[in-house]
Amino acid sequence: MSKPRIINIISNRNFESKKTSLELNEKLTDRGFIVKDKYDYNAELNICVGGDGSFLRAVHKNRFPKIPFVGINTGHLGFFQEILPENIDDFINKYINKEYMVEEILLVDAEVCAKEKCYYLSGVNEIVVKGSRSKVIHLDVSIDGNHLENFCGDGMIISTPSGSTAYNFSVGGSIIYPSMNTLQVTPLAPISSKAYRSLLNSVVVPGDSIIKLKLENRYTNSTLIVNDGVEFKYDNIDHINFKISDKKIYKLNFNKDMYWSNLRSKFL
Ligand code: NAP
Ligand code: MN
Repeated sequence: MSKPRIINIISNRNFESKKTSLELNEKLTDRGFIVKDKYDYNAELNICVGGDGSFLRAVHKNRFPKIPFVGINTGHLGFFQEILPENIDDFINKYINKEYMVEEILLVDAEVCAKEKCYYLSGVNEIVVKGSRSKVIHLDVSIDGNHLENFCGDGMIISTPSGSTAYNFSVGGSIIYPSMNTLQVTPLAPISSKAYRSLLNSVVVPGDSIIKLKLENRYTNSTLIVNDGVEFKYDNIDHINFKISDKKIYKLNFNKDMYWSNLRSKFL
């Protein structure tokens, strides 16, 4: 007997998502798959139904699984969620016929070092360092031990290529094609004046770089770390190191031009 083919469906609670999940479940079951709505680590595919937020939550909740994701968009934008509910049949046929590529999604790691110990986070879109008290924050920025600037402003975004179309893009960062092995360091409302001098644009760094943000003493207890939209607060932060993660997640891609058509249809 052949191995059972298990598929996880991870859905948000919206009416439209529940309806789409039900339809998916029936159609996949008809084609011989075993569909789970409770996460099964033996599955061959994760189908995420919802928007980008649902995708990000699914990745974090299931701790960056190696099982590839595919997204059905019932959300607002759905940049990660390239399949529309009306194209479910086409998606299932292409999946069964293996008409897809598996794309790697790079993640960003942060090592948040407080006086006593360090904490570790990984993000899909970005990790943001910002003030928790609506005050200007001051950060010493270095790349691979080379001092770059004394930043003053609202904060700093360390964005992955896949996250470059999210928060990074809204604050003037560049769109980076997802297969590029880089991180982007993007300032949030940088101050450039007679008093302070910060770079106004983002810096794109090579994939093996370590980006270090050192906090000035008086900000060690008033800094927020925001990982893919989720806030973390730590006491006595001294510095934060960022790098491309050794972990990766995977996504199905049904068309080599999908990134560009998605970009055009969702941003223009
Ligand atoms: P949200 O407030 O719903 O997200 C803001 C918007 O960003 C949504 O329209 C979301 O799409 C979209 N988005 C998420 N990831 C994207 C990507 N990689 N490329 C293009 N657009 C993307 O919150 P959420 O859904 O939980 O998403 C968290 C993300 O929001 C964070 O990682 C951050 O990048 C972003 N954010 C953006 C701003 C800003 O642009 N000013 C401020 C804070 C946070 P859906 O509608 O499909 O969810
Ligand atoms: Mn959202």
